[in-house]
Amino acid sequence: MRSEMARFACIQILNSQAAQSINFAIGPYRITGASYLKVAAALLTGDIAVDVNPSRLKPDQGAMYLPGENEFVVRTAALTATLVQRMTVVHESTHAAIDIQGFRYDDTWSDNEAAAYVAGALYMYKTSLSSIWDGDTSIDLMTRVEPWATAFRIAASISSGNPNVPAKDAIDLRAKIKGSQPYKRLGMTFGTRLLSDGIRRR
Ligand SMILES: [Zn+2]
Repeated sequence: MRSEMARFACIQILNSQAAQSINFAIGPYRITGASYLKVAAALLTGDIAVDVNPSRLKPDQGAMYLPGENEFVVRTAALTATLVQRMTVVHESTHAAIDIQGFRYDDTWSDNEAAAYVAGALYMYKTSLSSIWDGDTSIDLMTRVEPWATAFRIAASISSGNPNVPAKDAIDLRAKIKGSQPYKRLGMTFGTRLLSDGIRRR
């Protein structure tokens, strides 16, 4: 179901100070606050849509972004309710930001996911609600499971200083992603492509 509430929740999260302070480069991508402003603008114009429809998601999928359809699929319209929900919006919006950057020959699905995981981890480090996170054991647990553990280690290492993720760390994260569910189930390899084709409607 198309949801105005979900659409505006995404825009609110992308305009937040925590999302706007994200700035890093990994593999072929550079992601900044401006990347998320472009996603927010596309949500505002309807060039990117939001479908609240858990039946389109696998049990181990929090949400997804479809670069062909230019569409987010989410479980709930109440996307600002929890830190993990907000982080999920930042993760999927990173895929959307890469889609907006358009087609390139040198990217892969695992590069794309690595960027989204680092962005999600950076968002969680930068959110003003980190005091809530400190007391939340479910988040504490999540950060110890791969690929999260590696994404958080990388986010911590770049959150103050050089925003460029070293190639060695990027490969490490891509390997952890490739080896984890649901990507393993979907047969992801280092070479699997994901077509980020821009969001202009024909
Ligand atoms: Zn993803």
